[in-house]
Amino acid sequence: MLLPLENLLQDFSKLFFPHYCAGCGQDLKNREAILCYRCQQDLPFTNFFDTANNPVEKSFFGRLRLEHAAASFYFTKDSLLQNLLIELKYRNNKAVGFYLGRILGHHLKNAERFKTIDALIALPLHPKKQMIRGYNQARIICEGIKAVWDKPIIDHAVERIIFSNTQTQQNRVNRWQNMEGIFGLKNPSEIQHKHLLLVDDVTTSGATLEACGSVLLAVDGVKLSIATVAYTI
Ligand SMILES: [Zn+2]
Repeated sequence: MLLPLENLLQDFSKLFFPHYCAGCGQDLKNREAILCYRCQQDLPFTNFFDTANNPVEKSFFGRLRLEHAAASFYFTKDSLLQNLLIELKYRNNKAVGFYLGRILGHHLKNAERFKTIDALIALPLHPKKQMIRGYNQARIICEGIKAVWDKPIIDHAVERIIFSNTQTQQNRVNRWQNMEGIFGLKNPSEIQHKHLLLVDDVTTSGATLEACGSVLLAVDGVKLSIATVAYTI
C-alpha cells in the first residue's frame, strides 16, 4: 500500500515517464514491472531444465558435444515472446533482456543438472554489429542470469571475427559452411578446464551456437552447456 505522497509522486512521474507492459502495451501501475499480470500468465514455459534429451538438446545431437541444454520458453511467430525479443534486439529495451535473463537464471539455479556450471559466456556479436546496436543482447541476458545465480561472466574468451548477414533463407548445410571460421579464440587460458554455459536469446537452427560452441570445445578440458531464453518449435 503506497502512502498518499508516494502515490502522488508516482502519478506525477508517469506524466513524464509513461510505463507500459512490454508484451501488450497496457499502462502499468508498478514502475518496476516489465509485463502486466495477464502477459506474465501467458508466457509459454518449456520446463526443459531437468529433462534429459529435451528438444533443445536433441537439436544439437551429432553436431556439438554438449553436457546439457535448455530454453525457458517456446518461441512462435506473432507471439508475446517474439514481441519481447524484438523489444530487446531492435528497440533498445535492455530492461526486457534483463527480466528474461532473471527468469532463465531462476530456471538454471533450480535445476540439478546445471549445478556444475563454472561461468557464463554470451554469444558474441561482431564488434561492428554491437556498435550499431549499442549492446549485445546475449550479454544483457547473462547479466539477468547473474543477478539471481551468482556465476561469473567471461567476456573476450571468444570473439566473432567475420561479419555475417542473417541467413534465414538458407538450409542447414549452407548455414554451417557460412558459419565456419566466423568465431575465433582470443583468451583460451581463461576458460581451460571449465564447464561453460553459452547463452543466447533464441535457438532456431542453432548454427551460430554450434559454430561458437565448437570453438570453445577446442580448448583443453572445456565442457559445454547451452541455455537460451527461447526455443523455436
Ligand atoms: Zn501485458
